This record gives sequence, structure tokens and C-alpha cells, in this order.
Amino acid sequence: MKVTAVLRLDPPAGDRGRLLGCLRRFNEAAQCLSGIAFQEKLWGWLPLQRRAYRELRQRFGLRAAQAVVCVRKVASAYKPKARRSREASFRLLGSMPLYKHSYKRDGTISFYGFRIPFRAGEGVRLSSDCEAKLLFDGEKFLVHQVLEVEEKACPPPSDHLGVDLGLARVAVDSDGVTHPEAPHPFTPGQLRGLRKRHARLRSKLQKKGTRSARKLLRKRRRKERRFAAHVNHAIAKDLVERAKRTGRGIALEDLRGIRSRITARKAQRRDQSSWAFAQLRSFIEYKARKEGVGVALVDPRKTSLRCPGCGHVDKKNRPSRDRFRCVDCGLAGPSDAVAAENIRRAAGSRPNATGSSTES
Ligand SMILES: [Zn+2]
Repeated sequence: MKVTAVLRLDPPAGDRGRLLGCLRRFNEAAQCLSGIAFQEKLWGWLPLQRRAYRELRQRFGLRAAQAVVCVRKVASAYKPKARRSREASFRLLGSMPLYKHSYKRDGTISFYGFRIPFRAGEGVRLSSDCEAKLLFDGEKFLVHQVLEVEEKACPPPSDHLGVDLGLARVAVDSDGVTHPEAPHPFTPGQLRGLRKRHARLRSKLQKKGTRSARKLLRKRRRKERRFAAHVNHAIAKDLVERAKRTGRGIALEDLRGIRSRITARKAQRRDQSSWAFAQLRSFIEYKARKEGVGVALVDPRKTSLRCPGCGHVDKKNRPSRDRFRCVDCGLAGPSDAVAAENIRRAAGSRPNATGSSTES
């Protein structure tokens, strides 16, 4: 499977400015090339390269390898036919693909005439066989390097950690733990408050509709996305670690093809879709595969209505959105924890539930 390693570059003071200049030149070149491609309808990389390679080299001073990736980057922006109706634009400090780069034994990475020290996560075996790109996040230079790693074999687990991804709380597992767990500083209340605040701000800015409001809105959206991704990573990490530590697989509801198992009220629906649940699911599956933890996807029907005590299924078991109370045997608890337990059982009762549904 492929994973992406994130390296942080530590350029010496003098190289910082040079790196920024390099990124800027590259994206200026991409923008210029994009104009040529658009006006002359040159969509493929080869005609584009024939047409503009020399210009890229001479006018923007790109190195040969850089000019090649610049052409590819622009061509890939126009690859979908739907994107050919307007000129593609590139941010001045947008990312730059690396090509013919290499990792040196002395802890430096070399590319396009640079040789820069970097830090990587512990135990990461770097290789430049797959694609990589250089990014500037406004402060630090990062390299995203794709790596091909061997998947750990997962033995079929005897038990699962059931996980309910829900409305009131982002994720609750069948051990009754709410995620994100401490020490991550987000309580469910804070998260909910933040999400509401984001939504309010967004609608305010949307109503305003001025140019600066739109710009602010874009900035807000980016910030929100970064925040959601950060929380989702923390949750996925918690869950996978917990399952691995206890020798269990992870069980999730199989929501493919189902918009939502819950016929939620409108406000709740917005709540649900405003959180990046699809991303959270993919983070969980991805981290689980990396760690050799099996993921079972179970039928989502009735997971919120069945009583894990006596098996009684009844709409009346849910007196409110957040509470579960079995009308038959009286078992009661938070509805998401009950759902998580039902998900755990559904995975356990299926023979060979492991991994079979996560292959892509
Ligand atoms: Zn019951």
C-alpha cells in the first residue's frame, strides 16, 4: 500500500529565501504555461512540452527536471475535460512536485540544485521511487513523499472495537470511550461549539457577499478543513491504537450507498454533513491497514434501535436522540455507546469479517 511521509525541511537561513524564490518562479512558470495551454488548446503534456519547454528554461530559469514537472502539473490540471472551459490558476506559493530528488545519508534531501537538511518521523525508510512534492505552509517547508510500504498481515481478530460515528459526539466506541480522547484538548462540547461558531460565521459571511467577505470565507473554510483533519487524525489514531493494543479489529457501519441511517431532523443533518465523516472513515481504514488492524464493515440497519441486552428491536427504544432505553428489559445508556456495542456484535457474529470489506 502507499503511504505519505511528511518531512520538515530545516533550510539554513540563506536557503530560505532561495527556496521561496524557487517556488515562486515555478508557479509563475506554471501560470504562464497554463495561459498558453488554455489559449492554444494544448491539453496533453507532450504538445505542451514541445511548445514551451525552452521558454520555461530560458524565461523562468527552470532546471530541466523542473520544466518537465511544470509541464506535467499544468497538463494534469486540464486533464478533466470539464476543466478546460476556463484557465487554470496556480497559487504563487503553491506546491512544487519534486523529480529526480534524492535522500542522502547525511540527512539531507537534494533537488533542483538544493541540498537541505530535513527531519522525518522515526523509523521511516525514505525512498524517492514514488512522487513527492514541496509545500510551503506560510511558515515551514514540507515535503510530502509517497512511499510504497508492505501491508502488515492481519490475523482474524476474535473481537472488535465497535465504533459509532455520530451526531452528538463525533465518535464513541464499544468500550464506552468518547473520541477524541484526552490528551487531545477537544471535549465534545467544545467541538460542537466550534462547529456551530464556524457555521454561524460562514452564513454571516455568505450573506455579506462582498469580495473581502468571500476571501475571508475561503480562508475560514481552509482553517476549518485543517482543524477537522487534525481532529480526525487524532480520533483515528486513538481508535486504531486502542484496537491494536487489545488485539481487536475495528468495526464500522457500512454506509456505502446509504445517505444516512438516521432520519435526522434538518438541523442535525446539517451537523452530520458539516463534519468530515467520510474523511474520518478513510483515516481509520488507512491507519488500521498500516498497523495490521482488521476493519469490518457491518450492516447499519437497526444498530441504533436494537437492545444489546435482550435483542429487542423497537423505535420506542430511542426516547430521544441521545438516549437509549429498551422498552422490554429496561437497559439504558447513551444511544451512541449502545450503537457502538451493536456494531461490535454485528462484526463478531460474522464469520471471517476481517479485512474482507476494506480491499480497494
Ligand atoms: Zn432489552
